[in-house]
Amino acid sequence: MRIGFFGGTFNPVHYGHLRAAEEARTLLSLDAIQFLPSGNPPLKNADLADMHDRVALTKLAIAGNPMFSLCDIELQSAQKSFTVDTARALAERYPQDDLIFILGADAFLDLPNWYRPEELTSLIDFAVVIRPGFAPEIVLQSPFLGERVAVEPETWQLRGGRTAVFLQITPLGISSTQIRRLIREDKSIRYLVPDSVADYIEKKLLYRE
Ligand code: ATP
Repeated sequence: MRIGFFGGTFNPVHYGHLRAAEEARTLLSLDAIQFLPSGNPPLKNADLADMHDRVALTKLAIAGNPMFSLCDIELQSAQKSFTVDTARALAERYPQDDLIFILGADAFLDLPNWYRPEELTSLIDFAVVIRPGFAPEIVLQSPFLGERVAVEPETWQLRGGRTAVFLQITPLGISSTQIRRLIREDKSIRYLVPDSVADYIEKKLLYRE
């Protein structure tokens, strides 16, 4: 099987995430996508909702799509989880499968600030979805990219030995930051997130302050 793992805080999950996952799945002929929410980091930023709520929201958002599921690997420990450890754990959990870590261009550009990025890029292949505000020319400046190894789809060697494929997807300028701001300002978030997500947020009064 070819499995994509879509990492993020999903604070909250929105249609930008869902559409990116769906387009990555079709462009890369993946058999499944697992959404991989981060746990609660010890230095949690003020508007990070509780892990249980973020997980519940993500489950609501992906319900009904048999190709989408939730990966709990980063939720099992109270410690901050590093993607390098997650990648190793995933390789152990799925020894027979072809694993791809999906992330947005902004997250990919931030790789130098991650824990042991070089090792991470030796462990798992990446799929980078282009996001509004992050043109391919900007992303190609990442110090983690080596030689280009394919043109269609555009694929580059990563410093650690694995590859990164760049995916041009429908640009949706939605972010969790925007959604949290709209909620604080008491404005509608309808059609930016599934209705089930908006209903849960409203019922539990999340992101109000
Ligand atoms: P925040 O605004 O709080 O930083 P976010 O909207 O970027 O959140 P994350 O949970 O951090 O959401 O994102 C998970 C992954 O999805 C990241 O790799 C991010 O780059 C990617 N992503 C988020 N929104 C989009 C979008 N609209 N289009 C494509 N990729 C996206």
